[in-house]
Amino acid sequence: MDDLNVRLFGGISISEGQNLTADTFYQQAQAALYEAEHSALEQLKLYNPNTHNAMVDRLRFQTEIRTALDRKQFTVFYQPIIDLHGRTIVGKEALIRWKHPVRGILTPGHFLTTAEQGGFIEEIGEFMLHEVCSQHKSWEKHGHDLGWVAVNISANHFRSPHFPSRVQSILHTYGTPPNLLRIEITEDAMLSPTPEAIYNFQEVRNMGIRIAIDDFGTAYSTLDYLVRYPMETLKIDRTFIDDIDHDSRTAGLVRSLVGIGKNLSMAIVAEGVERSNQLDILQAMGCTEAQGYLFSRPVPWEEYPQVALELEKR
Ligand code: C2E
Ligand code: MG
Ligand code: MG
Repeated sequence: MDDLNVRLFGGISISEGQNLTADTFYQQAQAALYEAEHSALEQLKLYNPNTHNAMVDRLRFQTEIRTALDRKQFTVFYQPIIDLHGRTIVGKEALIRWKHPVRGILTPGHFLTTAEQGGFIEEIGEFMLHEVCSQHKSWEKHGHDLGWVAVNISANHFRSPHFPSRVQSILHTYGTPPNLLRIEITEDAMLSPTPEAIYNFQEVRNMGIRIAIDDFGTAYSTLDYLVRYPMETLKIDRTFIDDIDHDSRTAGLVRSLVGIGKNLSMAIVAEGVERSNQLDILQAMGCTEAQGYLFSRPVPWEEYPQVALELEKR
């Protein structure tokens, strides 16, 4: 007989001295139970009005994100990526923004975690792929050649079973050549990959799409995955690049990260380059590409061709 793994959860509400109605009493216990079910540590929870309010806020924000998706309030910004050898723009990264009707333009730090918790991350990923392919098609019609584009895909989305076929169908819809697209995933997608992640990884590469490891250096405990799953690009996280021109130990670390990439024949993109000092150091280290405010902030997609043109003239 198979073993059964049973876990019990409990939510506790105390009505003593509070004069709670039966309904409120029950709702509080339900809220505590919900928390227990979502807690990594405790299977038994006592009702806490603060965490309850936080939960209600989160659910409200999730509803707002749902509405924003339906009302097409999300949009794409692009940030150019520069080849350090010829100092020309070779591609760009697509970054999501929320044109919030009250709060203005919101960066992903404000909403992405909640969107992921609310189950919207695949819809967001597909939205970005659609927008990016459609914008490139219209730029191509106007005679702009703006290089490749990198799209961020969350680890959960990347390992979902329909991912490769959905990407294939989006590329087909807009007639986008697969080598125009790079997919950026963070290390956690490939650190201890599920069979689905490995399958999708191979499928996506077989389609001719390149894969980049984003925020490289922030999470790894083993580098084994770089050898096992060959990818084209490493993106060194901004936290390292920040200190590279005034901290010799960080500079030493970045030199080593660049070395790893070079020895595996990968392109190495430095993220968050803000000062020309940093650029000189990175170039001397053999870093191949860079991205950062030094060249351009992310700009709305409508403005990107003009910004890229101006930047090329500099
Ligand atoms: P990321 O993929 O590592 O993107 C680079 C982030 O660094 C962007 O932040 C960019 O605006 C910022 N950045 C670039 N150059 C500089 C610089 O010189 N200085 C500073 N201080 N920052 C710089 P952003 O757009 O806020 O995005 C944050 C993160 O959100 C991204 O990090 C990515 O992980 C995620 N993200 C963005 N768009 C999407 C998306 O469409 N889908 C998913 N799943 N994630 C996304
Ligand atoms: Mg990225
Ligand atoms: Mg990054």
